[in-house]
Amino acid sequence: MKLVFATHNLNKLREVQLLFPSDITLLSLTDIGCSEDIPETADTIEGNARQKANYVKEKYGYDCFADDTGLEVDALNGAPGVYSARYAGEEKNAEANMEKLLSELERKESRTAQFKTVIALCTDKYTHVFEGVVKGCITTKKQGDRGFGYDPIFLPDGYTETFAQLPLEIKNQIGHRGKAIKLLLDFLKD
Ligand code: IMP
Repeated sequence: MKLVFATHNLNKLREVQLLFPSDITLLSLTDIGCSEDIPETADTIEGNARQKANYVKEKYGYDCFADDTGLEVDALNGAPGVYSARYAGEEKNAEANMEKLLSELERKESRTAQFKTVIALCTDKYTHVFEGVVKGCITTKKQGDRGFGYDPIFLPDGYTETFAQLPLEIKNQIGHRGKAIKLLLDFLKD
């Protein structure tokens, strides 16, 4: 079986590749000649995942899945949530996003948060969604140089290291995207 993962984010691709069995050929957007930015203009995480997967299915014809992720911080009523990529501005700068979040939380007592990933799988016959969540808290400073996005300031529950310090295998095992991917793979097996 061939399946496209609709992302231009090479970090995500690397994470997901580690989880895929050898009988499914995972194609990247580069593999199918898609170099344009895929629209993500919905106002929910699920809406964006559906939009990206449907776009690739309709325009390129491949069975495809897309993910969308948000970091939901309790003391900020779930922000930045669906706006996580553009939290500090349209240039989608991870450093600026983290700085803004750390400064917003400076005087807050609670720093609990969760990453939520929704994956939408789109084929000729259906679109299905799968959700993965990991709970944790936001640290007071950046730690670690692995991963991407908000990883250096996210401490998953039960661990003393951030996602940017933990090995990728651990992030995949306990993380939001890994959990959603496992549900996708279980679905594909049946
Ligand atoms: P998107 O799902 O690629 O649109 O990501 C939304 C925002 O969340 C971007 O700022 C990403 O860098 C960030 N993000 C997505 N996945 C992760 C992750 O696994 N760790 C840290 N940040 C992430």
